[in-house]
Amino acid sequence: LAGGRKEEKGKNIQVVVRCRPFNALERKSVSYGVLDCDPNHREVAVKTGGLTDKLAKKTYTFDMVFGPSAKQIEVYRSVLCPILDEVMLGYNCTVFAYGQTGTGKTFTMEGERSTDEQYTWEEDPLAGIIPRTLHQIFDKLSDNNTEFSVKVSLLEIYNEELFDLLSPSPDVLQMFDDPRNKRGVVIKGLEEITVHNKDEVYQILERGSAKRKTASTLMNAYSSRSHSVFSVTIHMKEVNLEGEELVKIGKLNLVDLAGSENIGRSGAVDKRAREAGNINQSLLTLGRVITALVERRPHIPYRESKLTRILQDSLGGRTKTSIIATVSPASINLEETMSTLDYANRAK
Ligand code: ADP
Ligand code: MG
Repeated sequence: LAGGRKEEKGKNIQVVVRCRPFNALERKSVSYGVLDCDPNHREVAVKTGGLTDKLAKKTYTFDMVFGPSAKQIEVYRSVLCPILDEVMLGYNCTVFAYGQTGTGKTFTMEGERSTDEQYTWEEDPLAGIIPRTLHQIFDKLSDNNTEFSVKVSLLEIYNEELFDLLSPSPDVLQMFDDPRNKRGVVIKGLEEITVHNKDEVYQILERGSAKRKTASTLMNAYSSRSHSVFSVTIHMKEVNLEGEELVKIGKLNLVDLAGSENIGRSGAVDKRAREAGNINQSLLTLGRVITALVERRPHIPYRESKLTRILQDSLGGRTKTSIIATVSPASINLEETMSTLDYANRAK
């Protein structure tokens, strides 16, 4: 068992589950709880038998499990801190939020503002992973004598087209293979904004959400069908004891995926979704890429979608990936919850 643990520590893909609390709709409907989260044993038990077979259940084990009472800061500390350490060493890493629409992907990645206004945005307990990460990057870097720069970009993929949420232009962006980097792409015209201090972070995030609002009024079901990729690139220059300069470049992608509701239990496109012409190529390919990486297959189908092409230099190899699967606790969402847990289970 000790050996197993060790192997787990060196794992490149980590899968965690977060269950949100019941919402008002679920409380009003004839819905009951179907999930038991056990953070200590890293288990989620699903009651699969409905009201007739109260004992039927299916239990899953993940790298971490967060129940409905888990706070934003807990998720940040447990999931992001180890990933950020890798990024500061100069590696590329990715964190995904995957799950049915309405289960807390955006709440986890971006977070929200408390309504009582007693908190500044940086100390708001509802702040999610993105603002917390940027904060910590500045805290860590200004602690030691490293010369550094921090750049961010925010792009969204809707219907396999790319949009820059930090640019005022409404144009669709074009993507090319990078002639200088075998595993990279160039996204022509994508704004990369230098963040000078942590006070600028919030303005940049606000800019993104303003443009997202416009997109939502123009495009059908934009928020549930689009993928949002927030990338932070850190250039670091250190001088070691021998007086040599060391340059490190780390990159972190924080990805809020499209709603998983059109991917069926088997990982293929759901029949209804297919009939509605609602196939999300990027979400589907991401599943295949992750399966291929987990099974160590020789061919990884990165090229089959925009999302996986963009993330190619940050998935697989020496990179670390975390998938946060978000689920609802209520019986009315049982089918989708099982689908999400099965997907997450395949990515382990
Ligand atoms: P998604 O992005 O997956 O569609 P959201 O993040 O928008 O879902 O969450 C849907 C609703 O549920 C929001 O009103 C959000 O405040 C709430 N919510 C989600 N996760 C949690 C949580 N862990 N604790 C409290 N409220 C949550
Ligand atoms: Mg969302």
